[in-house]
Amino acid sequence: MKIAQVILKPEKEKPVKKLHPWIFSGAIERIEGYEFPGQVCHIFSNSGEFLGTGFVNKKSGIVCRLFTKDRVNRVEHIIRERLINAIKRRERLKSITNCIRYVHGEGDGLPGLIIDGYDDVVVFQIISAALENYRELIVETIIEEMKPSSIYERSDSSYRGEEGLNIRKGHVFGKEVEEVVIREHHARFTINITKGHKTGFYIDQRDNRKILGDYARDKDVCDCFCYTGGFSVYAGLNNAKSLTLVDSSKPALELAEKNLRMNGITEFKTIRANAFDFLRKTKDDFDIVILDPPSFVKKIKYLHRAIKGYKDINIYGIKRVRKGGYLFTFACSHHMTIDLFQQVIFYAASDVGRPARIIRRFHQPEDHPFSIYHPEGEYLKGLLLQID
Ligand code: SAH
Repeated sequence: MKIAQVILKPEKEKPVKKLHPWIFSGAIERIEGYEFPGQVCHIFSNSGEFLGTGFVNKKSGIVCRLFTKDRVNRVEHIIRERLINAIKRRERLKSITNCIRYVHGEGDGLPGLIIDGYDDVVVFQIISAALENYRELIVETIIEEMKPSSIYERSDSSYRGEEGLNIRKGHVFGKEVEEVVIREHHARFTINITKGHKTGFYIDQRDNRKILGDYARDKDVCDCFCYTGGFSVYAGLNNAKSLTLVDSSKPALELAEKNLRMNGITEFKTIRANAFDFLRKTKDDFDIVILDPPSFVKKIKYLHRAIKGYKDINIYGIKRVRKGGYLFTFACSHHMTIDLFQQVIFYAASDVGRPARIIRRFHQPEDHPFSIYHPEGEYLKGLLLQID
């Protein structure tokens, strides 16, 4: 296979030398020998110094992705090795759950690849032209190393369009399944892998759901943006006094109800509503309010609008927390950094004018690692506030 050559502009080699995996068009002087999106390339500084091997895609904003500092002509063995190592690194989690993210893109050195395991069903997603070219190798390695009963592809992220790729979704291997029951700590959930958000479930809130459970005993809990009831199931299993679940999606609430009942929780209230309107209008107060909205900021140019959204929902949420109660508040966008998020919550709390203290910061869990050289991989953050 022919190797393309990517030559950077003067002074643009620094981030590459620091192992940042993304090179944007503004840093590139010229590309030679380009044949197809995701082609393997060698990367050079302007003065001709070799910087590494990567993938080049002229259709993407991320024109070049650094893959290794080494000079290699074939990458198959590296992809295989990184995949196997990523799977091995998750071993510890198996005593806690059978719902695990086995590969988390750049965090595992595999740009744009997600592999999630729901019991023995594997769901994968490819969102880079780079790894799209190695789809067969990825599927073969999953079969060999994970021995799944079924593989389903959910390459239906809107990010694929930005790489010049079409949506691909469907059954790939083994028996055809739509729903899987998984266990996570002491909870059980039904996951719809074909229709659910992401690859079916918000695996990334596992640790935070557990912490919520620890606080929930005898509490009136309001779970806003509840989706399929992740937080509420933990609250219910820990004997919360009451559960109010709010989401705008009917299918989400139906699955939340199913999940609660499957865990033996029979007393709860589901409310189909815009969470902004619900919190603004309700007369009820709660000991715990959870705010886990979808990302308000997929693109940096909308950051301003997003800040207002996060501030508003947190103002409404804080107002509904009883004296001495808790606010669990989250943001899931890498554009919203933890410092910025804390500042937004500061503005929300000071607008309401109530004393509020930060008790914890929340993060994405260990199976969602991000490279220290690629801070963009840190997307989930949250705060636990106690409000007086
Ligand atoms: N907390 C969930 C994940 C939340 S995902 C968990 O742990 O699994 C975000 C949810 O917000 C989705 O279910 C979506 O239907 C819902 N949603 C989006 N906009 C909303 C709005 N304005 N009001 C209420 N729910 C909304």
